[in-house]
Amino acid sequence: MGNEQTDIAGLRQGLDEVDSGIVRLIARRREIIGAIAELKQHSTSGIQDPEREQRVLDGVMAVATDLGVSASLVRTIFRELISDSVAQQARHLNPDDGGRVRVAFQGATHSYSDAAAQKYLSGRGLAGDLAGYRTFREAADALLAGDADLAVLPIENTTAGSINEVYALLRSRELFIVGEETWKVDHCLAATREVPLSSLRRILSHPQGLEQCSQFLQTIPDATPTTYFDTAGAMQAVAEAGDPTVAAIASPEAAAGYGLVVLRRGICDIDDNYTRFVVLSAKPAAVDLRVPCKTSLILVTGHEEGDLVRCLEVLSGSGHSMTKLESRPRPGRPWEYLFFIDFEGNAADPRTAAALDELRSAALFVKVLGSYPAKALRAPARPGDLPGRGARQPAAGEPTGDPAEMLEAVAAAPRPAVARSRQYKLVDRAARQADTVIRVGDVLVGGDGFVVMAGPCSVESAGQIASCARFVRDHGAHVLRGGVFKPRTSPYSFQGLGWDGLDLLVAAGHEAGLPVVTEVMAVDQVQRMAAAADILQVGARNMQNFDLLRELGKVDRPVLLKRGLSSTIEEWLAAAEYVAAQGNQQVILCERGIRTFESATRNTLDLSAVPVVRERSHLPVIVDPSHGTGQRRYVAPMAWAARAAGAHGLLIEVHPDPDQALSDADQSLTFDQFAALMRGLAAIPRSGVR
Ligand code: PEP
Ligand code: MN
Repeated sequence: MGNEQTDIAGLRQGLDEVDSGIVRLIARRREIIGAIAELKQHSTSGIQDPEREQRVLDGVMAVATDLGVSASLVRTIFRELISDSVAQQARHLNPDDGGRVRVAFQGATHSYSDAAAQKYLSGRGLAGDLAGYRTFREAADALLAGDADLAVLPIENTTAGSINEVYALLRSRELFIVGEETWKVDHCLAATREVPLSSLRRILSHPQGLEQCSQFLQTIPDATPTTYFDTAGAMQAVAEAGDPTVAAIASPEAAAGYGLVVLRRGICDIDDNYTRFVVLSAKPAAVDLRVPCKTSLILVTGHEEGDLVRCLEVLSGSGHSMTKLESRPRPGRPWEYLFFIDFEGNAADPRTAAALDELRSAALFVKVLGSYPAKALRAPARPGDLPGRGARQPAAGEPTGDPAEMLEAVAAAPRPAVARSRQYKLVDRAARQADTVIRVGDVLVGGDGFVVMAGPCSVESAGQIASCARFVRDHGAHVLRGGVFKPRTSPYSFQGLGWDGLDLLVAAGHEAGLPVVTEVMAVDQVQRMAAAADILQVGARNMQNFDLLRELGKVDRPVLLKRGLSSTIEEWLAAAEYVAAQGNQQVILCERGIRTFESATRNTLDLSAVPVVRERSHLPVIVDPSHGTGQRRYVAPMAWAARAAGAHGLLIEVHPDPDQALSDADQSLTFDQFAALMRGLAAIPRSGVR
């Protein structure tokens, strides 16, 4: 025992040394970035270089893979380091005057606005005096009266949407946006002491706080939601009242700040709940052209048909990508609207200035609210690719002798025009020449990418799905699979864990940073499933369940449509058309083998369907060699063949202990087999034929 403790103490000391070494290396990295910023001071190129950033990420991920460290962990860490370097360089180019700034925000101490204001100041290396005001208007007035240098106000929330009052202030006052900040909102419920939720009679919070937790509030029907001017102020009021039947919703920091007991954590309806704040000043600020910027403006268009489109074309035609378009009623003009637009660009840039001039002549009214360093941008999506492949791209036009080129050459042979189908039109290649590319999490399915979806046939336990998630992620998979409602041939076989299984799948995906795909079997499961899963799978047995297809056509979620056991390619595409015809064009086709007279394999994997489908449709098509063959030893060769055939990806069954799997044991790969499959895959050229 004594020895063991000495050993642990020694090891911990070693760990502490490694940790401080990591921090010293980060400091060294920042010194080098500082030197680079110094040199770039006189260059005209921008400080953000996505290609260079990608090379840095590829490089460190390759080192991680060689050392047996999780590549995705390393990617997460380096994304943070890179974004810190960009901020450091931006600060160098755009230094603040220094000194203390007075910042107005709405709410009490420990409110989310308070936290966001502190975050903004510390990101710019500034010290400040923060003052909370009761209303947004009072905070804005303090700024205009010269009582504050900046005001930090929330403008939108990713769950509850735009904050109209702040938009109204931007419209009606002489305020300028000089910065933005984001804050992850993580509400908790707190009271003066530990009490059962059923004893609560009133729950106080800001209307946004109540709205963001509305599903949770429905589970406490006896407590009346009561609006309060601010989340943290609600905590303060509960603390002062001392009534144990009253609770408040705000951040855990606010609960601690006011000495309350947290009754429940993580009560937001949607886990990823962010608020975007604008930093306002009484005068506009100029930002160095090399700093990535956004510009915000208010626009009133003319009354002719197509006037809005003409204004938007001015922006897109001049290469400015729009990040937000919000329409608000035009005061005093019933059924007329004004638009709030954010786009990537800097009004100090002549190209942007020219676009703004053109916009002024195309519109009735334009008010530029400011150009400011961009913080809130949606995560860039990446095409699915295999670890280690990025490095070996040949230069443009350079002959490589790569077998992929040979495949292209063979497939380039003239082919007869395909007759237009009468069964489907939206999913027909004739309707859309370019491949459809579907965003799932931050991965793109379709086009030139190759996406691997992997995991167990069925979710069986928290441990099983979590270990699968980590393993497949570390070996290059992009999406986690796991069935929770299982279409089994016999009613006596394991039927899946149902909704509890879905919770486990989503939690495992979240933990591993992977989006999830799972099968939906019935019309009445669609809405609830769509709220939690990233891709909804239609199983082979349901390919012609037309009611289910129609329902899936009504949700904004990608659908993975398996080919029916005995369906022709034309029937399969017509089934996809059922989804598309209802409005949802995000369909991924999946070849999973068909019934033939052959009995050596569970099904006959029809790989020739891949080039045929790519000719006839613009939809992505992936291959499931697990159900396609039914035998684990055939899965890897067919996966490799699918890539060579031009598939956009794979769906693979993997299990930590396949022989004990509750479904599809024979075809589930072991972890080692999956790792070998992925290694081999990286060596297979993917045909771009269609
Ligand atoms: C599955 O993916 O686990 C499944 C049941 O597939 P299919 O519908 O192709 O049989
Ligand atoms: Mn299965």
